[in-house]
Amino acid sequence: MNDPHDTPDLTGLIHHPYLPPAGFEAPQVGVYKASTVYFPTVADMRQREWKDKSAYTYGLHGTPTTYILEERLCALEGGLQCVLVPSGLAALATVALALLKTGDEILLPDNAYGPNKALAEGELRHYGITHQYYDPMQPDDLSARLNERTRLVWLEAPGSVSMEFPDLPELVRRCRQHGVLTALDNTWGAGLAFQAFDLLGDGQCAVDISAHALTKYPSGGGDVLMGSIITRDQALHLKIKLCHMRLGLGVGANDAETVLRSLPSIGLRYAAHDRTARALAHWWGQQSACVQVLHPAVPGAPGHAHWRAVCRSGLAAGLFSVMLHPRYSQAQVDAFVDGLKLFKIGYSWGGPVSLVVPYALRSMRTLESAEVAQGTLVRFSTGLESAQALLSDLQQAMQAHLPTA
Ligand SMILES: *Cc1c(COP(=O)(O)O)cnc(C)c1O
Repeated sequence: MNDPHDTPDLTGLIHHPYLPPAGFEAPQVGVYKASTVYFPTVADMRQREWKDKSAYTYGLHGTPTTYILEERLCALEGGLQCVLVPSGLAALATVALALLKTGDEILLPDNAYGPNKALAEGELRHYGITHQYYDPMQPDDLSARLNERTRLVWLEAPGSVSMEFPDLPELVRRCRQHGVLTALDNTWGAGLAFQAFDLLGDGQCAVDISAHALTKYPSGGGDVLMGSIITRDQALHLKIKLCHMRLGLGVGANDAETVLRSLPSIGLRYAAHDRTARALAHWWGQQSACVQVLHPAVPGAPGHAHWRAVCRSGLAAGLFSVMLHPRYSQAQVDAFVDGLKLFKIGYSWGGPVSLVVPYALRSMRTLESAEVAQGTLVRFSTGLESAQALLSDLQQAMQAHLPTA
């Protein structure tokens, strides 16, 4: 056996003299990985401040890589402060944990992202925080549910799966009048379709918080989980930032770098996903197998007028659902989905591969919707394949599994 004292002195591999050159510039940001960061002196350690990003104190509090990603996401969404979390769902949960206490109530749209409802029904309920679901297409229903215990109202535009686009400025106005904070799940709009912090384009109507599943379009690869929480009010940001710190939430440097590398192409990708989704939605509108196309940019779809008013960019995400005719059994619809070759069966969206999921909408809703037809729902997210190839795939699966009446 070797005497441990025989091992060579490798201190030079640890305390190396090399410093990165100050003059080095390149298109992409470096991957700065750290738990520990150094302080030159104890005095410096004691006075360093991380909450305003003026310095570095610990990896969990931020690195050059995460600070730069936060700044760029603020530029994308028109916010001033940003907190990064390990998933989109963690963004929703962090907002709730930062702002709510026992006895408070939150309101969620009935068509909210399912796991956000599960959080309200699970942990929040266990902590003595109650919730109600409101009909996002009826601002009066929201108003009727606002009460002295309401602390936070979630907004989603459009809603998950059924894709109704609400009158977002009106919902925000109702909450404002009541003095209640608004938090928007901004994953669909992604900072591109509309401006969450300037909904009407006149600087007069803004949500308080924008939560974004960066997992979707900012990542763009179907390979990274991350979320952001963006605000414009410093006191509100600090509340969220301190909760974030106490919960010990952080993101990996390589993941942050992946999102940074994808961000410059988000506008091009979003527009491409949008174009393809609209071509497919248009095709579905001509099929007798389909009783309703649920895509807010399609005339006649629930909330189309609200989409036009708020999404003045004319853009929409590459995400839509179709309600198939009630004459089809769930087994037939499942066989149709199984029969698709280019569309992969899987959750999430925003990557290069088109995805499809059949949803049992009835079991996901508490309130009756007057706007969504009866039938069996299938949700599509378009990837970056050609629209023609995707249409051929839909056609072959339909011919095989959805017989015309
Ligand atoms: C995907 C998604 C989330 C959650 O994002 P994850 O990173 O998967 O946790 C939240 N809200 C919406 C609307 C989403 O589509």
